[in-house]
Amino acid sequence: MTIGELLKCGAETLHGAGIENYSGEVRDIIMHLTGYSASELFMHNSDEADPAVSQKFSDMIRKRCTHYPLQYILGETCFMGYTFKCRENVLIPRYDTENLVAAAAESISSNESLQVLDMCTGTGCIGISFYLERQKKGVRDRVTLADISDDAIAAATENRKLFGESCIDDIEIVKTDLFSELGGREYDVLLSNPPYIPTEECDKLETDVRDYEPRLALDGDIDGLSFYRRIISEMGEYLKSGAHIYMEIGYDQYEGVRKLMEDAGYVDISLIKDLSGLDRVVSCRKRINE
Ligand code: GLN
Repeated sequence: MTIGELLKCGAETLHGAGIENYSGEVRDIIMHLTGYSASELFMHNSDEADPAVSQKFSDMIRKRCTHYPLQYILGETCFMGYTFKCRENVLIPRYDTENLVAAAAESISSNESLQVLDMCTGTGCIGISFYLERQKKGVRDRVTLADISDDAIAAATENRKLFGESCIDDIEIVKTDLFSELGGREYDVLLSNPPYIPTEECDKLETDVRDYEPRLALDGDIDGLSFYRRIISEMGEYLKSGAHIYMEIGYDQYEGVRKLMEDAGYVDISLIKDLSGLDRVVSCRKRINE
């Protein structure tokens, strides 16, 4: 079969299995297997496909038909323009979460090296890409990637290796239940995308997420706010005066999270919406000691 025929046939199969973005996904699979860019793919459309590629392609298509996530099949995904490794039991980086990194990297303009905490880091994509964005501006921060899950720690460790020596020097990875193992550290910046889906909603998520992504990274307890309650009540001790906090939230959680921050004495609380106009990130600051 030619590459073009594989694309056509794969797209039809995925479409039949109810995969929404079937044509984008087959292209991603072929590009992954051949190493072609989107334009090269177009140029090689009528080439005969290597039999090994055809075999792997049909295995991947078959797996994707079960709604097993594409990012786990490919073992990677793109976040903030960087390619991160993905693995089972670790939440797949979402496009929506780029809002958090972009907002934080844009508004934190200090040229000094900052101490940054990515709480509930998963693959490490938030903390690592924030570090890389600031490195582009000539600043080398010190980052802690924190998570309770062994799989997340393994994924973050693997991802830290992908972006050069300085990442290995400047980014530490700590297995911890929230702040329990972070004693003695004080941060200028806290970034977090904690689990925030209310337990009952977890069972109603689309198959790809519900059946294959880790519940541990999604389930935010009865009202979804459990981790915000814990993080916001405990974080004060680990933050410097004037520290910046950015947290991803569910579309209807702004009021709840805002109130938790306000009651705990945090200031400059503001909401950042995503491109679809949904509430997505809340930021605030620790009061500056006078
Ligand atoms: N945004 C993710 C989802 O809807 C949830 C991420 C999280 O709970 N932190 O699947």
